[in-house]
Amino acid sequence: MRPRRGPVHQENMVIVGCGHAGARAAQALRTNGWHGGITLVDGEGRTPYERPPLSKAVLKGESEAEDAPLFPADFLAKNDIHVLKGVAAAAIDRPTRQLRLSDGGSIAYHRLLLATGAEPRNLIVPGADLPGSHTLRSADDAARIFPYLRPGAEIVIVGGGLIGLEAAASATVRGCKVTVVEAGPRPMMRAVPAELSHEVRLFHESKDVRFVLGRQVSELEGDGRVRCVRLDDGTVLPCTAVVISVGVSPRTALAEAAGLEIDNGIAVDRFLRTSDPFIYAAGDACAFEQVSGPRMRLECWKNAEDQGTLAGRNMLGSDEAYVPLPWMWSDQFDRTMQIAGQAGGSAEDVRRRCPDSTLLIYHLDKDQMILGISGFGSIREVSRGVRMGQLLMERGIRPGRKALADPEFDLRSLAKAAVA
Ligand SMILES: Cc1cc2nc3c(=O)[nH]c(=O)nc-3n(C[C@H](O)[C@H](O)[C@H](O)COP(=O)(O)OP(=O)(O)OC[C@H]3O[C@@H](n4cnc5c(N)ncnc54)[C@H](O)[C@@H]3O)c2cc1C
Repeated sequence: MRPRRGPVHQENMVIVGCGHAGARAAQALRTNGWHGGITLVDGEGRTPYERPPLSKAVLKGESEAEDAPLFPADFLAKNDIHVLKGVAAAAIDRPTRQLRLSDGGSIAYHRLLLATGAEPRNLIVPGADLPGSHTLRSADDAARIFPYLRPGAEIVIVGGGLIGLEAAASATVRGCKVTVVEAGPRPMMRAVPAELSHEVRLFHESKDVRFVLGRQVSELEGDGRVRCVRLDDGTVLPCTAVVISVGVSPRTALAEAAGLEIDNGIAVDRFLRTSDPFIYAAGDACAFEQVSGPRMRLECWKNAEDQGTLAGRNMLGSDEAYVPLPWMWSDQFDRTMQIAGQAGGSAEDVRRRCPDSTLLIYHLDKDQMILGISGFGSIREVSRGVRMGQLLMERGIRPGRKALADPEFDLRSLAKAAVA
């Protein structure tokens, strides 16, 4: 192995993946007093960026991927964080604590973080690799899809999850005719309660998005590029391009080849340590131990943000357990959706309809304690309602179903009273 030239430090913290979790870990290492080397191995070869805008502002043509960088322009240089741009991690040599790189080099690590993210799944049907058929995970993917989104273009979105619906909204805003094909009976089935999903669907339909539910794609057909999508009931949907958003798989190959435990992701304990105590994992790639129940893997921005930061601290010996505080959002057209806490498995759901038609749903346990909140509507009302629900939840306040359902009732006064 050829040792890599770079900044000379006694000890080096090495992070594989310069996405959200990797970037936040690097920041946390430096801000929590690590004076040794920090090296980010960035397989993508771009200035590290946020992914959420890709399916929103970037596809709408309102901004570029570079407009949402993960670090301020001078942050890396100022903090002496070394980025190996466009170099992938190829293998981990655990006995010697060396990371082998795609360019033939190698780098020693004091601690290693695997923040390798997730890989979009593709369809396993004939024609899935035809030009014009794309998955959406990276800035390069968004740049490939963007030129197809012209007024009048027929765009088929396969998969009615968060990214599929955001892409559907962005394509519609750009004047495309959009059809969403979803195998389940409703869109966003995994992520949101049925009532909210119904609300989202009606809203998309009011903007002329067409849904084909309960159907699977059997083939993509074309002559040099995709021309139509054939469904399992024989329906043929003509198209200019196809965006496939049927979920992601955690990127575990590097960890697996190194003999680390895998359990629907890189398996970590509550401190985000893998089965090798010198190696940590965070973000979409990792499946973490919970206080009770099976390991859990989350695929959202907040999780990558919190786990990346915590992994950085724990690599320094902080030994703090990860306690997920689930929160996710999605922007579709001029509406936003947020889900905080636990939206499934509630004993009762109480709906609150705001005057501007925003729908908030409070998910309660059998003792009327708030377990979670979901909302879809204006950014102002959703943010306010969800934040208020989080406060009530944190403070253990039970407003009761009447107060929760009444948009005139000031929930803030209850939260304030509990602190006073
Ligand atoms: C289009 C899109 C829209 C989204 N919108 C939302 C949203 O609205 N709300 C929300 O909560 N979440 C959203 N998310 C999810 C959120 O962005 C992800 O959960 C988050 O980016 C995960 O961060 P990560 O660091 O775990 O993985 P990633 O951001 O995927 O970063 C992993 C990085 O590791 C690199 N890598 C992998 N293997 C190697 C290797 N061997 N060597 C070197 N580098 C490697 C990859 O190239 C990648 O750059 C969205 C995601 C996408 C794709």
